[in-house]
Amino acid sequence: MGSLSLETEKILGRIFSENSIIDRIKDLCLLGSRFSGSESEKEAQEYMTSFLSNLGVEFDEYEFEYQGWERGACKFLIIDNEKQEFPAISLVLAPSTSFEGLSGSIINGNGGSETELNRIKNEIPGNIVMVHSGDTEEGWLHRRIKYANAYDFGASAFVFANHNPGQLFPTGSVRSNRIGEIPAIGISKESYEYIKEKLSRKKELDCRINVNNKSEITTSKHIIWDIPGEIEDEVIVIGGHYDGHDIAQGATDNAASIAVILELTRLFKEFNVKPYRTLRFIAFAVEEFGVVGSTIYANKVDLSNVVAMINFDGLVGHIPKKITCSGYEDLFNSIKAIKDELLYEPIIAKDIITASDNYPFMCKGIPNMCVYGEKPDPRVGRGWGHTTADTFDKISKVDAKLSLAYALVLIEKISSMKEIPRKLMESEVIKILKDAKLEENLKLLEKWPFK
Ligand SMILES: [Zn+2]
Repeated sequence: MGSLSLETEKILGRIFSENSIIDRIKDLCLLGSRFSGSESEKEAQEYMTSFLSNLGVEFDEYEFEYQGWERGACKFLIIDNEKQEFPAISLVLAPSTSFEGLSGSIINGNGGSETELNRIKNEIPGNIVMVHSGDTEEGWLHRRIKYANAYDFGASAFVFANHNPGQLFPTGSVRSNRIGEIPAIGISKESYEYIKEKLSRKKELDCRINVNNKSEITTSKHIIWDIPGEIEDEVIVIGGHYDGHDIAQGATDNAASIAVILELTRLFKEFNVKPYRTLRFIAFAVEEFGVVGSTIYANKVDLSNVVAMINFDGLVGHIPKKITCSGYEDLFNSIKAIKDELLYEPIIAKDIITASDNYPFMCKGIPNMCVYGEKPDPRVGRGWGHTTADTFDKISKVDAKLSLAYALVLIEKISSMKEIPRKLMESEVIKILKDAKLEENLKLLEKWPFK
């Protein structure tokens, strides 16, 4: 292994001899969901700012406006010989139905890709399309694309079923920073299998959806602080979102990553660390509404001295850790070159993650990475993420400590690289996205900021 600084070696020892990372994760989870617009979101902001104040670390609060949304009651009935109710929740940013509710035939849209929906296109208009969260015929597609497809084919409502068992309802946003066009609900895999089986035996199956959500424009804020480096005006942004979904603790997604950046800050202060380049930590707000907060930030703030961005989203929870390099060949090669110096075997990939806080930085040409624990079986998708089951008791002490240690070494190695690959021109970013065949979907998601 390449040499680490003496401070980093000392900090590594400290990480494994104390339990504060796991306590920090629990602290954040016990505040509540930290859902955008909620009381626990404010409490999380106060938790972070008082933590930093106690360390004597100065911080900025970056405030912005966004489309807020609050969950109301949700009822989902299948009307067969008798009415059968299935537990369901609204997806985030989905509109309400009228008081009487919305009725229609329910149609199985399988994975929800354009090809799959095109096959049943005559049945969709005015009816309710049910899709699952698993792979489509053409591979994985984000929920927001499936929703947009269903809407574009004329569906009156969208039913999104978990593809993982456990009577868990999936949540997530249907649009980015605006209210969706049609009501959308999440149901469990078990409900989906039951309804699918009924559908296969009957020509038509009617259902009714009643949802009553609230929405208004509101404000939130990012918390931002620096650990100044020797080269002070070369900045590496280290980000992660602190908001979770209102139904959950959001332990792995993403309280634990925030716990990691807070603990790193504490240890850097305690050991008087002066990194080679300046580290700018950003606890991002309003990610779960469609990467809203970081997009606003990257579009409004001068990023000319930001040389790289490392995003932790789901860092803790699984081993190995995956580092995605957003299709940037030189960055991929630079990270591969330090692979053996990282704490333990990571997966280094060229994947482009567009549904997390690194993406707005990618659009600005900044070398960026998303770092997360890779689930042992890729077919499980989000696993417990975005369900009530994303809880702190599933995070092992050893993974929490390893994740913190891993992040520490990764940050030291990247911040002290002799040369970080240059920023890309807009035309080069566009080429990467086009070559990866992401243009069409990003436009569908209203996430294509280029002309
Ligand atoms: Zn996340």
